[in-house]
This record gives sequence, structure tokens and C-alpha cells, in this order.
Amino acid sequence: MCGLLPEHVYPDAMRSPGARTSAPVGAVFASGLLRAIKFLQLNWRELALDIESGTLNKRINDPSIKDCMAKILKPNPELADFIRFQCSKENWEGIITRIWPNTKYLDVIVTGAMAQYIPTLDYFSGGLPLACTMYASSECYFGLNLNPMCKPSEVSYTILPNMAYFEFLPHQPHSSGLTRDSLPELVDLAEVEVGKEYELVITTYAGLYRYRVGDILRVTGFHNSAPQFHFVRRKNVLLSIDSDKTDETELQKAVENASQLLREFNTSVVEYTSYADVKTIPGHYVIYWELLIKDSTNSPSEKVLSECSLAIEESLNSVYRQGRVRYNSIGPLEIRLVKNGTFEELMDYAISRGASINQYKVPRCVNFTPITELLDSRVVSTHFSPGLPRWTSETRR
Ligand code: AMP
Repeated sequence: MCGLLPEHVYPDAMRSPGARTSAPVGAVFASGLLRAIKFLQLNWRELALDIESGTLNKRINDPSIKDCMAKILKPNPELADFIRFQCSKENWEGIITRIWPNTKYLDVIVTGAMAQYIPTLDYFSGGLPLACTMYASSECYFGLNLNPMCKPSEVSYTILPNMAYFEFLPHQPHSSGLTRDSLPELVDLAEVEVGKEYELVITTYAGLYRYRVGDILRVTGFHNSAPQFHFVRRKNVLLSIDSDKTDETELQKAVENASQLLREFNTSVVEYTSYADVKTIPGHYVIYWELLIKDSTNSPSEKVLSECSLAIEESLNSVYRQGRVRYNSIGPLEIRLVKNGTFEELMDYAISRGASINQYKVPRCVNFTPITELLDSRVVSTHFSPGLPRWTSETRR
């Protein structure tokens, strides 16, 4: 995370010309930036102590970090007091610009699954612009956003044709896989058509051959001959109980719709994941929610939270609602509220098993037993949908 301190409290060592100019605060993914803010929430006292004394907390024992910090750390009681003053306030709204007032924008990916973090980022930054600059993966860089200050919903990434050999599989929602027979379907980079959706297939310099990245992209235009894509979603279906199939985008939209009911309580959903619980008969969708309740004297009631479960169901596709209403093959959707910090623990668990902190993304669906056990052990309340969602056989909508 980078950013700027208020002019009057800069340590001398940081008074480089570069440090004086406006800069972004950022991380690769929105989830990483929020994790950094959470870390600050938990550790600002130690941070202030270190800045005050010009020493490093003993918990930091990585030699290269210690060497690096030794070059810039000097006692700065004024800066330490400033950080204490800002961080000790209960309200952290706009904390990014309060601590780094010269920040002009957040440099962070908020497209695709990261879009759900936009309200929380707006809260902590006081609504700074969000710049999504790149679309990339561990395997290779894919594209750049040539208009980085556009609205997140309008972001298109222009493919960098020299990064790999790019091919595109026209997206058919229920196609099974890339068999030998389906290879002719692949479309070359310059041949994709505006408005159509494709799955990205790459052949990399490092040796991956026709590797399916698992992302669905929609063509929005061309920059010279390089196509530009809107990131639509990850490919796989997340949840299914019967013949219903709910994908990541649909679940995200449904959670967004339901969370509107929390607005009057100044509450938002900071994280969520889901699970198809087939231990019950009929099986049902379970959505784990971690909430940010900004005013504890006005938190959402049990009734409101059950209505959120119904609102999620109302937003799901007609096959789901048909299963609920006509065939009774799917049980009432359940929201399980988890304690604050649960999703942090989930991330710590993933990192302990080898995930990279920079690339970690909250899984939108969990099946792995240790993870569901961890989530279940942190549940504070459960809220089932109190009624049936709308569905009529005439309209099938
Ligand atoms: P990883 O290899 O773990 O870094 O993850 C790469 C995946 O992250 C991609 O295949 C996308 O699903 C996702 N991703 C990367 N960049 C973006 C972006 N700009 N917008 C949305 N999703 C992205």
C-alpha cells in the first residue's frame, strides 16, 4: 500500500520530491487493500509506537525488511500523535484521506468479483476515484485499461497481444470442455466480435498450451487491432441443488440487491461466501455474511435479516425459484451471520496452505470441510427466508 502523509508530519527521510506529489493508495485487488486497512485497524497502536521511537516492533523479524526500514525510520513523535489522533476515533469513514490527505485515487482492481468491495472502499476513502489499471494472472499479463479513470462499471481491458498467444472460446453457458472436437471453435485475437462473450484461452511463453483461464469476457471494441474486453465473471457455476445453476455474477447481484435492505441501518455486507447444503432435505443455499454495522444502536433486526434471505431468493433465476415454489426441490435460503474478522481468518487459513497474500480472493463458494467448519464455528445467528419467492408458470420469470 502506498500513500502520502500530511506535509507537516513527513519524516525527513521521506521528503523526497516523489513523496511530495499526489499519489494513489492501492493494492492489486480490492480485497487486499481492505485487508491492509483492517490490519491498520488492529495494529495502529504498535505502528504509532514504532514511529514515535524510531524502532521496529520485535514481531517484524524479516532481515531485509528490518534493513530497509532502518534506512528511513527516525523518531517522529508528531507523526505518531497524528496517527493516534486519527485512528483512535471510532468512525473510520474517510480514513485513507485523513491519514494520507494527498491521495487522489485508489489504484486497485474492482472489476469482476471485486466489484462488491466498492461501497466499503468508498466508505474508507470518502469516495475517491477507483483506477483499475490491469487485468492479469499468475500465468501472464492479459490487458491494460487505457482509460483508467473511467467508472468501474465501464472498465474495458485492451489485450496486450505480445504477452501470450491469445485465443477465445465462444461462450456457451453449458459447454462441457475443450475437447479435440471443440478446438475448431477457437477464435483468434483479431477475429472476436463486438458484443459477444468468450472464454479466454492462452498459450504462454512459459509453456502452457491452450490453457483455459476460466474467465468470461465480453468484447466492447478495438484499440487498433487489439480487442478490448469487459470482464464478465469467472466461468464456473457456484451453487446447484437441483436443476438450478447459480453463477458468481448472479449471486453477487442477489447479495447486492438484498443488502439494499440494510442501508437504512447504515450497515453493509463486507464479505460473503456460499455453500450448497445438501445435508438437509431438500437441500438449500447457505450464504455466509460478515457485516459492517456502523451504528450499533441501530443494527438490523432478525426480521430484516430474514427478509434479506428472501430478497436474495427473489433475485435468483427462474429455475431456482421454480425449484423453490413448484417442485419444492430447494429449501428456504439461509443467511448465516459470522463474527467480524471471520473472513480474515479464512484468508489466513488459505495463506497457511500456500495461497499468495497478494493474489488471494475470497472463494464465493466453499466446499472444503475445514473451511465450512471454520465458518460454522463463527456463526452468530442464522436467518431463513420467511416465504416463497415469486414464480409463476405462465411467465416462467
Ligand atoms: P491469479 O492467477 O491468482 O492472480 O488470478 C488471476 C485471476 O484473477 C484472473 O483469471 C481473473 O479471474 C482475476 N482477475 C485478474 N485481474 C482482474 C481484473 N482486472 N478484473 C477482474 N478479475 C481479475
